[in-house]
Amino acid sequence: RAKDQGKNGYCIYNSDMNEESLKKLTLESELELAIKNNDLMLHYQPQIDLHTNQVVGVEALLRWNHPELGLIPPADFIPLAEEMGLMVHLGEWVLNHGCRQMKKWHDQGLTTLKLSINLSPQEFLKQRLVDKVKQVLQETGLAPHGLELEITESMTMDVVRSTSILEELHELGIQIAIDDFGTGFSSLNYLKNFHIHRLKIDRSFVRDMMNGPKDAQIVSTIISIAHALNLKVIAEGVETEEQLHFLENLKCDEIQGYYYSKPLSASDLEKKYEFNSSRGVIHP
Ligand code: C2E
Ligand code: MG
Ligand code: MG
Ligand code: MG
Repeated sequence: RAKDQGKNGYCIYNSDMNEESLKKLTLESELELAIKNNDLMLHYQPQIDLHTNQVVGVEALLRWNHPELGLIPPADFIPLAEEMGLMVHLGEWVLNHGCRQMKKWHDQGLTTLKLSINLSPQEFLKQRLVDKVKQVLQETGLAPHGLELEITESMTMDVVRSTSILEELHELGIQIAIDDFGTGFSSLNYLKNFHIHRLKIDRSFVRDMMNGPKDAQIVSTIISIAHALNLKVIAEGVETEEQLHFLENLKCDEIQGYYYSKPLSASDLEKKYEFNSSRGVIHP
């Protein structure tokens, strides 16, 4: 409708668009404020090893607790932050806070627990990522084996560049996972050449695998490829016991999903799983 009203292809006025750009503008300044005011927080979703039935890791998921709007999901502000060039700053915040929390859990005896952190494309390709990670590990005292970075297939289009970044991260002793595996541009060559440790099967395949043979085959194939290449494989978005059993039968290593737990604040996670136990392991 805006086009019809405009002259020479320019839009003079459109209430929808106005609202949209206004929202964006507000969000931009509010996001900057949120970082300053500590309105951001991390939730942690447990990852369960199906062989031992223990929590072996947690994925840090960013939450924005807006003073008026309440909890805003990352899908609503991360793309925007990326667009505004704020994501590198946000990402450093996540890395700092996540590593500090994980160090606390390690100090409580949970020394094998791992923290998974999502990287955005801008963060991954940033020159200083490796230095930043090194610095955060140093400052927080977290052992490198306690940290895993999640990247997606589409971030590694520049193969030469990605190979060297992943090599340097590997040398630091941290782990790399491919998030949302199967939804981007994957090639087997890439699995061969990159230093990675885990594949995360995308939630969409797990969601649909009980409803049709295609998704089930894809899940089964990803697990086989992972094992053939000596990689661990984790299924995302497991919600039902039926899905859990299906994945167990396929010898999937780990699962993450609402079936065990939604992402929780650090203190809720500690309550739910009795994190302070001196046994050094956590059972769901
Ligand atoms: P992701 O990395 O694939 O994270 C998994 C998402 O699936 C999370 O959504 C999680 O809450 C959700 N999830 C987990 N289990 C289930 C389940 O059983 N059922 C359903 N329906 N959903 C489940 P969330 O927290 O809304 O995050 C969405 C995406 O935002 C993440 O997808 C990730 O790509 C991005 N993101 C979140 N935190 C960060 C961050 O700190 N940095 C960056 N760069 N991206 C982040
Ligand atoms: Mg992830
Ligand atoms: Mg993701
Ligand atoms: Mg994912």
